[in-house]
Amino acid sequence: MHDLGNKKQKDKEETMSAKHNLIFLGPPGVGKGTIADLISSDTGLIHISTGEIFRNEIKNRTALGIKAEKYVTSGGLVPDNIVAELVCARLAKNDCDNGFIFDGFPRTLPQADIVEKVLSEMGRAVDLVISLEANEELLIQRLTARLTCKKCGINFNKLFAPPKNEGVCDKCGGELYQRVDDSLETALDRIEVYKKETAPLIDYYKKKELLASVSSEQKINKIVQEVMKVIS
Ligand SMILES: [Zn+2]
Repeated sequence: MHDLGNKKQKDKEETMSAKHNLIFLGPPGVGKGTIADLISSDTGLIHISTGEIFRNEIKNRTALGIKAEKYVTSGGLVPDNIVAELVCARLAKNDCDNGFIFDGFPRTLPQADIVEKVLSEMGRAVDLVISLEANEELLIQRLTARLTCKKCGINFNKLFAPPKNEGVCDKCGGELYQRVDDSLETALDRIEVYKKETAPLIDYYKKKELLASVSSEQKINKIVQEVMKVIS
């Protein structure tokens, strides 16, 4: 009995010491969203995707959603202050108390400063930044193989994360299609923007000793295993 009690206590301590507040960083096409989803179901950490927040706020016609929509529909990037407001509102919900995974945010150095400020006001901090890495050729292959659900907007990938049934969304049964902006030209553009605006975050978090690199040039289950290892 006694031993069992000790073991339980020990398990609990191990859970407590695990990393809870995570950022997934990486170029477009590296699989951040897919991996974050899988880690989220394994750990219960809440997956916070800025893309998904935008879609929800826009769908629900909130004041912030209406502001964000102007940028999204014109193909522009949503300004840092609006992104920050949306993310803060999401973080304040109770389900994030045990931890979260940011995917697609922060995207720039100013956004990283916002994250630090917002979290410290909540008495929290980023525990670990997972940098997912893959060579450019593979990124382009994956970016141009993306499939999007017409109904719920989630993404699949012909190469990386195919749907269970061809052409059909696993989540809602909606029809999958290839977005016009998933062309080679757009893929190259997105990678360039990433290099210029987001890649500096790798050094930023390295200096803070928060960075762990994981190769995305392997099977999904291997990537998930490696990420689980670095966060536990
Ligand atoms: Zn769907």
